[in-house]
Amino acid sequence: MKIICIGRNYAEHAKEMHHDIPDKPVVFMKPDTALKRKNMPFFLPDFSSEVHYETEIVLRICKHGKSIEEKFAHKYFDQLTAGIDFTARDLQSEMKKKGLPWEISKAFDNSACVGDFFPVKNFPDLSNINFCMYKNKKLAQRGNTKDMIFSFAKIISYASQFFTLLEGDFIFTGTPVGVGPVTINDHIECFVEDDSVLEFDVK
Ligand code: MG
Repeated sequence: MKIICIGRNYAEHAKEMHHDIPDKPVVFMKPDTALKRKNMPFFLPDFSSEVHYETEIVLRICKHGKSIEEKFAHKYFDQLTAGIDFTARDLQSEMKKKGLPWEISKAFDNSACVGDFFPVKNFPDLSNINFCMYKNKKLAQRGNTKDMIFSFAKIISYASQFFTLLEGDFIFTGTPVGVGPVTINDHIECFVEDDSVLEFDVK
């Protein structure tokens, strides 16, 4: 399986990172080795001294598709949850400054944390889903899919022009404003609406 991620999909987050609002989805990938097993601790990597959380809605692809039209995109994902796109921000800044690919800062082992999935049909309006993350029992980041620049359908249509989607692939759909660092012994818990979907410790 593969993990497709969308960057800068929330205007306020793009601004906090000093980026312009993109006119096309910003796409990058993580390999399957980036997937962190549920509830296993997240171990801070030695190669970074500034690891940030990015709380995102994650879609699960349910069927093989290529060059999917936006109007049919809803048929290609059946479950969603929240997850964390961990980012070695110091490395990413260095890579960006040099104009180099940023994979080492984004796609490292255990950088993709994914919660328990719920059927998409539980959510009558996909463009109005609340999600949030509590760090050490305090609200750290909150978003609503109404603030996405590119909808789930747009993302699927765009990404599938380049990459054939396969059943079991995940799509991280971008983070809202409010990213920040994690430090050792932090406790992370993510919610979709009122359901706790993911909980783990930083070690
Ligand atoms: Mg992200």
